[in-house]
Amino acid sequence: MGERKGTNLYYPPDYDPRAGGLNKFLGTHALRERARKLHMGILIIRFEMPYNIWCDGCGNHIGMGVRYNAEKKKIGMYFSTPVYQFRMKCHLCDNHFEIKTDPANLDYVIVSGARRQENRWDPKENEQVVPETKEVSCRLYDDAMYKLEHGLEDKKVATSRDSALKNAIALNDTLWKDDYSSNCALRALFREKRRDLKRKQSVDSALLKKTGLDIDLVQEHENDIKLAKSLTHKRDIKKKKKRDAGLELLVSIVRSKNNSKKMPCPSSRLKLQNQESPKVQDVVDNATTSKATSSSSLVNYDSSSTDSDT
Ligand SMILES: [Zn+2]
Repeated sequence: MGERKGTNLYYPPDYDPRAGGLNKFLGTHALRERARKLHMGILIIRFEMPYNIWCDGCGNHIGMGVRYNAEKKKIGMYFSTPVYQFRMKCHLCDNHFEIKTDPANLDYVIVSGARRQENRWDPKENEQVVPETKEVSCRLYDDAMYKLEHGLEDKKVATSRDSALKNAIALNDTLWKDDYSSNCALRALFREKRRDLKRKQSVDSALLKKTGLDIDLVQEHENDIKLAKSLTHKRDIKKKKKRDAGLELLVSIVRSKNNSKKMPCPSSRLKLQNQESPKVQDVVDNATTSKATSSSSLVNYDSSSTDSDT
């Protein structure tokens, strides 16, 4: 500690008392390095954390009583009481926090760099058992009447809490007295879950094997199922439309061929279709040569050809 160096009373052999003291002779401040920022109005002191905080830099919890080297400076006055601000570095990260005194509330206020862990509730509000304060203890010792009244009050509180305590004990008993059946129920539940998990895993592995993929599958969701169904429905409609269009085209060709033996292709699309699928051409030829071709067989041919196109 810097300030201790000034009080070790070691006088070097060349010390001259006319200098006006040991510090003046050495040219140092009595507080040594703690006073290195004194020209800026900052004194370095040892600061003890007054309550639990969370550091904003690293998010770590810093408990009450942790000590830091803090820069202390006066930032104002509250009536005749100076307000001091302390700046210190977190010992777990590079963050700095600033805490100032709050003389109005006899407290400390965090200015920046940290959050206070809120422990300022009234324990009586959530029915905690609070030890008596020093004043009450003294009065209980001195004042016999007060002690008697206090005792009666305590008895009232005890009877009012008795039923709640009994209820709690009964609830605990119903839950834990028959530990064998509780254990059985838990194990049965766990077995059921494990069975379900295995079934899902087998389905997933079969799906991955089928698709030849090596990825992690996520849980199936209801929305996904709906979306997939709507997509397949749309695809079916498209297929049906295409099939119908092809059928109409074929029927029109057959009719036109029946009317006139030779006719140029009505569209380039038909040409393309004829080139791509010789089966369709055969069907058309068959239809023109033998009038016995039934429309059902046409449909079958056409559907197969359009399917192969898609
Ligand atoms: Zn930190």
